[in-house]
Amino acid sequence: MVSSRMASIHESTTLKISAMAKKLTASGVDIIDMGVGEPDFDTPKNIVEAGCNSIRMGETHYAPTAGIPELRQAIAEKLSQENMLKVTADDVIVTPGAKMAIFAAMQALLQEGDECVLIGPSWVSYEPCVAFAGGHVVWGDVDESFLPLELARTITPKTRLILVNSPSNPTGAVFNQKVQEEIRDLACDHNLFVISDEIYEKIIYGHDHISIGSLPGMENRTITINGFSKAYAMTGWRLGYLTGPKETMKWITRLLSHSVSQATTFVQRAGVAALRGPQDEVAAMVAELRARRDLLVSGLRDLGISCNTPGGAFYVFPDVSQFDSGDAFTDRLLKDALIAATPGSAFGPGGVNYVRLSYATSQARIKTALERIEKMLE
Ligand code: PMP
Ligand code: GLU
Repeated sequence: MVSSRMASIHESTTLKISAMAKKLTASGVDIIDMGVGEPDFDTPKNIVEAGCNSIRMGETHYAPTAGIPELRQAIAEKLSQENMLKVTADDVIVTPGAKMAIFAAMQALLQEGDECVLIGPSWVSYEPCVAFAGGHVVWGDVDESFLPLELARTITPKTRLILVNSPSNPTGAVFNQKVQEEIRDLACDHNLFVISDEIYEKIIYGHDHISIGSLPGMENRTITINGFSKAYAMTGWRLGYLTGPKETMKWITRLLSHSVSQATTFVQRAGVAALRGPQDEVAAMVAELRARRDLLVSGLRDLGISCNTPGGAFYVFPDVSQFDSGDAFTDRLLKDALIAATPGSAFGPGGVNYVRLSYATSQARIKTALERIEKMLE
């Protein structure tokens, strides 16, 4: 009934759990949704206004595939100033969400049978994107802080690509300069590409964010991906972007021109406002997320659940193997504590002992969640 390509694709676990939690809530069940990774904050007003004004001004028509010039320029300035990437507006492609940027980059880089290294538990959509492009995932080991361990062992003659996601979904790990340089050295020694998914770069607690594409030797082998969903609470607007070697960007633009055409025109205007406008709401959101992280991490530890302190993103990834498998524990959370969570197994074989809890929910709800978990474990 469907092409063999589709056989490698399964439904996104995060989106499936999100839909289930919404359905249960709508039917009157008091679910605490710690499943999906979506900021619970509203999109800042100046951004909403810019989008609405753009519609009123009639900017409801097609735009260039790679994006409106104003947004590409604003992104290029951001990447040059904040991320130390040598980028002009011509090197930037705007996409409907970072997910599409990742999908397109994989299509552009991977040949049938190529290998892509994912470092430890990794976001649910990477493997399907690799598979859909004809590639295979090779899983790299991580240490107890979820930092890469002996990454060189993953490299084979078929390796084409390493995926870097710092801060990481689901582990919250932040790769420091030394780790990024080790990955850079591997990429240069073996002539590999790196896709650097930096969507959580702003949601980082006391660490420096480093863009691996800015390290010497990485200019022509890095595709940097980012978006507006997390930093500006714009998940539903669908706006992301990527930059990388000119030749690769040319082919990706062609792919987009035959698939999505472009990101929505007035949404791109909202994106300009996000980048050019005040950033204080981003800072306030990160401060609140940090307080929630501390509350959840210390609460889980008080319950005897072993849990790292994530350096970024908005997930905790506790090891629950002393109680159950990650899958079984997630089921218990839903049935016995009415908490929607994501089983660690959704993030690859390294995640089976873990559960991902998103703390993009209020401190009051986190406190209730902790009380419910305590009861569940009694
Ligand atoms: N990368 C990571 C690591 C994510 O968690 C997400 C979450 N949605 C995305 C990319 C995609 O973001 P979006 O498509 O909403 O821009
Ligand atoms: N990235 C978020 C998550 O991991 C949003 C859902 C998705 O796109 O996977 O929950």
